[in-house]
Amino acid sequence: MKKIGIPRGLFYYYYYPLYKTFFTDLGARAILSSPTTRITVDRGIDAAVDETCFPIKVYFGHVKELCKYELDYLFVPRLVSIENRSYICPKFMGVPDMIRASFTSLPPLIDITVDLSRSDRDFKDQVLKTGRLFTKKSSRIQDAYEHGKQELEYCKHIASQGYTMAEAINIWEGQDIRQQRDGSLRIGVLGHGYSLYDEAISMNIIGRLREMGCTVVLPESLSLEQVEQEAASMPKRIFWTLGRKMVGSALKMEKMPDIDGIIYVACFGCGPDSFIGEIIERKVNDKAYMLIVIDEHTGEGGLVTRLEAFCDMLKRRRRQQVEDHISAYG
Ligand code: SF4
Repeated sequence: MKKIGIPRGLFYYYYYPLYKTFFTDLGARAILSSPTTRITVDRGIDAAVDETCFPIKVYFGHVKELCKYELDYLFVPRLVSIENRSYICPKFMGVPDMIRASFTSLPPLIDITVDLSRSDRDFKDQVLKTGRLFTKKSSRIQDAYEHGKQELEYCKHIASQGYTMAEAINIWEGQDIRQQRDGSLRIGVLGHGYSLYDEAISMNIIGRLREMGCTVVLPESLSLEQVEQEAASMPKRIFWTLGRKMVGSALKMEKMPDIDGIIYVACFGCGPDSFIGEIIERKVNDKAYMLIVIDEHTGEGGLVTRLEAFCDMLKRRRRQQVEDHISAYG
């Protein structure tokens, strides 16, 4: 049985059920790297160039871990676009090349190009090309891909019930995870899935807020149509897929009366975050808003203090309605 290494980083949080189902249905075994730890981070910092953002460095750490195993292939897709007229951050395009340049000994890479910006014709060819590494039957490859898409939809459905994508994947894999209890505060938490749902990158912001008695509302629990509708109210269309999702989610959350405040988790060194965080800060005027920028040097103590202060402020606002509608910005 052929073994495929899948790094637990970047779009793992959005697509793993599809990847795993596809390869498993074709008779291969998907080997996933372990959850991110300080060791993964240090390995990634050693291997990646300094200029990349934190999540890319962490991804390198996962690749380094997978290099220890005897793999037939390493799955490192080259993501350009995952939807019509929209793009993923350009760093994703260069990931397979950066990995080839940084590691001396690698299993053969499956660096399928995903570019759905104009049509899905090329992408279908890429799926078939990947599948032919395992079987000659086109129909079997097509069935594996369709099955993968169904599993991904099921996983998204789990996430829509208030779980993070990481929790939804674990539930999809058969783990038993308790649903969060309703907290005294409801906080919208935004950020790219690969930084927000990786507990080592985000320093478990979501878990900490839940421990502080907050219910966390995530972009995955909002209706996609409503998010797109809100994002469409911007004077210019945002062509970054994740950026548009974040702005649309923030605007939607601002209108939800049961949400007390919004936190945006951005990564230091992230180009898109540098203006998406700013746009949200300027647009969200009727809710308390906090931008948290994280990198490999972010201290846990400072983060906890900021979260506690934010929650205290929201509780005070609830008690003293006079503070309503005063923007935390400016
Ligand atoms: S969007 Fe930002 S955090 Fe994500 S890969 Fe690009 S630079 Fe890094």
